[in-house]
Amino acid sequence: MRATLDVETDVLIVGAGPVGLAAAIELGQRGVRCIVVERNDRVGYSPRAKTTNVRSREHLRRRGIADALRHASPISPDRPSTVVFATRMNGPLIARFENALNGSRVRNNLYSEEAQWVPQYVLEDVLRQCAQSLPHVTMHFETEFLALTQTASGVTTQVRDLRRGQTATMQSRYLIGADGARSSVRDAIGVTMIGEGAYSRNFSVIFRAPDLAARQIHGPAIMYWMLNEEMPSLLGPMDENGLWTFMITKLADTVDPATVDATDLIRRGTGLRDLAIEVVGTDLWVAHRLVADHYARGRAFLVGDACHLHPPFGGFGMNMGIGDAVDLGWKMAAHLAGWGGEDLLATYEIERRPVHERTIAEAVHNFDQTGTELIRPDLEAPGAVGEASRGEVADLIEATKVREFKTLGIVLGMRYLNSPIIIEDGSAPPPEHFMLYVPSAHPGCLAPHLWLTDGSSLYDHFGPGFTLLITDGEERAADRLARAATKRKVPLKVLAPTNARLHQRYEARFALIRPDQHVAWRGNDIPADCEALLAHVTGASRRAGTPRQALHQQRAR
Ligand SMILES: Cc1cc2nc3c(=O)[nH]c(=O)nc-3n(C[C@H](O)[C@H](O)[C@H](O)COP(=O)(O)OP(=O)(O)OC[C@H]3O[C@@H](n4cnc5c(N)ncnc54)[C@H](O)[C@@H]3O)c2cc1C
Repeated sequence: MRATLDVETDVLIVGAGPVGLAAAIELGQRGVRCIVVERNDRVGYSPRAKTTNVRSREHLRRRGIADALRHASPISPDRPSTVVFATRMNGPLIARFENALNGSRVRNNLYSEEAQWVPQYVLEDVLRQCAQSLPHVTMHFETEFLALTQTASGVTTQVRDLRRGQTATMQSRYLIGADGARSSVRDAIGVTMIGEGAYSRNFSVIFRAPDLAARQIHGPAIMYWMLNEEMPSLLGPMDENGLWTFMITKLADTVDPATVDATDLIRRGTGLRDLAIEVVGTDLWVAHRLVADHYARGRAFLVGDACHLHPPFGGFGMNMGIGDAVDLGWKMAAHLAGWGGEDLLATYEIERRPVHERTIAEAVHNFDQTGTELIRPDLEAPGAVGEASRGEVADLIEATKVREFKTLGIVLGMRYLNSPIIIEDGSAPPPEHFMLYVPSAHPGCLAPHLWLTDGSSLYDHFGPGFTLLITDGEERAADRLARAATKRKVPLKVLAPTNARLHQRYEARFALIRPDQHVAWRGNDIPADCEALLAHVTGASRRAGTPRQALHQQRAR
């Protein structure tokens, strides 16, 4: 037995997929000791996600690794973030979207990082390198979670060293199950997925075709939807050297994927009948719409695919899981450091469940309109008949598909409105829309972003703990709150940038920003009882009504 496996730590994380790694980074960078166990011998087996969205990249930026991902990607960051709808790779264009998923490299006031089209295995490797560079994070590959038991103070976990075939015991104060769709942690803690499982079978192929880029007529893009009656399908680059991914959705029940000729499918879908193709791998995956009935039992928590599953259309799954890791990460670290209150960890489910449900509904909506539903007769016909058919489908795409590629309303518009650690201020929340993101410092929303006059992002100046943002005034205006934070050992940075637009965007003189960059409170005056305010936003107060009411009155003045 590897002696190092019989250990004690603060947090045991099961699974080194993108979400487990993100959790390790959130905790490790805050000085929390954690161990990650992963049954594979390395990260990066999954070729699935390609969209690392704006918000995930902002988390990478916060952790200092956004540029590392940009440089590590085998896909040029200068590739236009374009989605093409055509009959074939060599057939007429039907519609196209530019700046899809907000992936264009243009500065936008709404966010600090554009999205990136990058294979999941590359992101995982960047996350792994970051996690392994942290002194408090230890990773054990070829180590499988087997079982757990809990007491009021900790978790005892059985793992198996797959190389040596031996079992060991790990003690931790908390456990995070980031072990994916078939989570063993979920089973071990008796959590059930609710919803509809495996409602559609789909088939992806990774293949090498060095000639494809030169032979297709639509120019560089991140996604090509091929709408033809013969083989409606999707295609996208995995690098700039001829590695591609191909997908057909909603396989008929009669199709046996084991007997499918992937090369033939790709040639038929693309229209390039003699394309030289080397199949690298195939992946039969099923679409679910499922969410866990409980997100935690005792000291064991579920994040990522272990907690929620939905179709990948919109590129939300991994990104939402990274959001879970961020939310749970700061709360668990706060609790372990002693300044997070008794109620803090329970807010993980309270805050994340509505985000999951809204996002899942959006992904399911997107999946309802794949190529199969978009095709019409005569799409490939010559002359006026074909043009009319393509025009009809272009209208349909504009009406139904645009929301899949303009997703800021989902990605940045998530909010924690009914959370007990958010202090309402009596104002109306911004409108909720799946595409449109309206920046607002309404408590619970993501802190509105701005580029400052020196060219830096406002977010770059937020602290690792809470940040008291003064939009209109000097730092000393927050002295009382800073003293209360010191007394309660709540990490607080006071920030008073000079920017004329800040006050207008935040609609208050002060905004208290959480470690995950959501607004916990805002107001025009620092409340009389600063300790009550801090207790409230750190889950250490059950007197939630007191500061909420006080703040409401202040804004009304
Ligand atoms: C075709 C397709 C395209 C997709 N595209 C996107 C996209 O563009 N954007 C997006 O955000 N999402 C996308 N997704 C979803 C995304 O791939 C998943 O949401 C993401 O992988 C979930 O990450 P995770 O870390 O929660 O789980 P996983 O990636 O499944 O990682 C779980 C890890 O746990 C390990 N593990 C499991 N059991 C044990 C055990 N008992 N002991 C130890 N280790 C264990 C596994 O080996 C694995 O490494 C796509 C999915 C598919 C199918």
